[in-house]
Amino acid sequence: MSVVSKLLGVVMSALGLFIFWWGWGTSGQLVWSFVGMFVMAMGFTLLTAGRQQKEEKPPPPTVTEIRCGSCDFKEIRDFQKGDYVLQTVEATCPKCQGSMTIEGVYIVREDSEDKDKI
Ligand SMILES: [Zn+2]
Repeated sequence: MSVVSKLLGVVMSALGLFIFWWGWGTSGQLVWSFVGMFVMAMGFTLLTAGRQQKEEKPPPPTVTEIRCGSCDFKEIRDFQKGDYVLQTVEATCPKCQGSMTIEGVYIVREDSEDKDKI
């Protein structure tokens, strides 16, 4: 969609400019210049719309750190809705079958290995 609309935007802008330039010497000058400007505006709208779509970013990946209260076993898994710090999870420790609690929820940054603690 974005590539097609961008290409269409370039074509329409060029076509509008051509109609504007071509209609300048004709008897219907005002009509053609209006049509040319209208087509150009449509083309620019398509170009701008494509640019705005590109700036949208998906939400950053979030992970949950779970820790066993008995043996200090740690596990990182994908964040699930409803997760909060110090919540006891249903899953048990794979090492000692002890109860595990959520120690932290982190946003994983793509550009660096730093973690932001919520
Ligand atoms: Zn354990």
